[in-house]
Amino acid sequence: MAHALYADQALVGDTMVSDVTLTVDDGWITSITPGRAPNSETAGGIVLPGMPDVHSHAFQRAMAGLAERAGPEGDSFWSWREVMYRFLQRLGPEDVEAVATQLYVELLLHGYTTVGEFHYLHTDPAGGLYADPAELAHRIVAAARASGIGLTLLPVLYQTSQFGGAAPTQGQRRFVLSLDQFSNLYQRLQAGYGEDANIRLGVAPHSLRAVPPDALAAVIKLTDGPIHIHAAEQVKEVADSVAWSGLRPVDWLLQHHALDQRWCLIHATHLTDDETRHLAKSGATAGLCPTTEANLGDGFFPFLEFLGHGGGFGIGTDSNVSVSPVEELRWLEYLRRLQRQSRNLTETSVGASTGAALVRAALQGGATALGRPIGALAPGKRADLIVLDAEHPILTSRSGNLALDSWVFSGNQTTVRHVMVGGRWVVRDGRHPDQDTIAARYRQTIARLMA
Ligand SMILES: [Zn+2]
Repeated sequence: MAHALYADQALVGDTMVSDVTLTVDDGWITSITPGRAPNSETAGGIVLPGMPDVHSHAFQRAMAGLAERAGPEGDSFWSWREVMYRFLQRLGPEDVEAVATQLYVELLLHGYTTVGEFHYLHTDPAGGLYADPAELAHRIVAAARASGIGLTLLPVLYQTSQFGGAAPTQGQRRFVLSLDQFSNLYQRLQAGYGEDANIRLGVAPHSLRAVPPDALAAVIKLTDGPIHIHAAEQVKEVADSVAWSGLRPVDWLLQHHALDQRWCLIHATHLTDDETRHLAKSGATAGLCPTTEANLGDGFFPFLEFLGHGGGFGIGTDSNVSVSPVEELRWLEYLRRLQRQSRNLTETSVGASTGAALVRAALQGGATALGRPIGALAPGKRADLIVLDAEHPILTSRSGNLALDSWVFSGNQTTVRHVMVGGRWVVRDGRHPDQDTIAARYRQTIARLMA
C-alpha cells in the first residue's frame, strides 16, 4: 500500500528543495510532488538519500582498537594484518553474525542504508568447508536482515599470497576457495537471495596479489553485478606488482580488463598521473575509505586530481574503525587542506558548498559501485532515506546546502533521527528497535573472543 511522506526539506536530485511529498510503494519511491499530499506522514526533519557504504569487512569491527600498540619494528598495514589473522583463529559463524549485526545497526544509526560487504571469510578455522559452504555468507545476510540494512554481497575469491601464484599462508586459510568452490558458493547465494530487492550480488576478486590472472578473468564472468577489487593500497604492493609484471596494479587492470561502471577499485591509493586520468575516464568507481586508510598509514589518494578528471567515488568503512559517513567525508577534504594549506578544495567554483559536494558525489558514486537503485530521491529508486533532526543544535537554523555543510563539518554527534530502508522504518528517533538485544549478544561474543 502506498505511503506518503511529507518533507519540509529534502535533497531531490542535486538540489535541496522545500515542501515536497514522496510517495513510497512496495519499497520503491514512485513519485515526488510539490506540497503536502493528503494523509501524508510528516518526516520530521531534513530528508536525504541514505549513504551507501561501499566497502566493509564486518568482522573487523570487533578488532577496532586491538592493533594500536607500538611494536618492536615500526608498525604498518602488514603488522595490523597479523593481528587480524590471529583474531580469525577463533571466530565462528555465530560470532560473525553477532558482530555483523551490531555493526550494521551502528551503520544505520549514523546514516548508512546499504553496505557493500567484501566477504572473504569462507571456511572454518582449520580451513575446511562448512556443511553448507555458504554458511558464513548466510550469516552476513542474516545480519543485514536483522538490522534492516540493504546489502550488496561481494563474496571474495582469494587464492594466493603474492603476485605470481605463491601459496596462501596459514593465516589466509579461511579465505581460500578453488574456482569451482567459489562458483558453487555464488550459485547458492544467487538461488537464495537473487530475488530479494534489498540485496544485490556481485563478486570481489580480492586483489592482484591474491588472484592470478586466469582466475580473475573467470570469476568476473560469473556475475552481471558489481566487481570490486583492492588495488594499490600499499607501496610494497605496487613494487611487487611491478616486479611481477612490469606494471603497477591499476595500470595492469586498465590494460587487461575493460574497466567500466561495474568495477570499483578499493583504495587505489598509489597512482601515477596517467593511472589517475585513465581510471577516472574509465567509469570505474574509486572506493575510498579515509579513516581506515589513515589508521593503516596507507598514503594519499590523488583525490582532487581524480575529481578533476571526472572520476566518481564512494566511501567505505572498510575495517570499521569508524561507522560515521560524515567522518569519512570530512577526512576526504581535511587531508587535502593539510597537504595544501588551503580550504574548500573538493568543489572550487565560487560559493560552492564543500559538504554538499561531498555528500552528492558519494551518494552517486556509492550507488554506482554497489549496483543498486539507491543514492537519490527519485521515482524508480529504492525508498532508502534518512531524516536528519532539523532541531538538533548542529542543524538548527540551517537549510539548503548549509544544512549539508553543517552535517558534514560539525563533529561527531549523530543528527540522524529516522532511517528508512526499502520503504520500512528501521530507526526511529535515533533508536533501532532491537539495538539492546543485538548489543547484548555482541558483548557476550566479544567477551568470549577476548577471554
Ligand atoms: Zn578492504
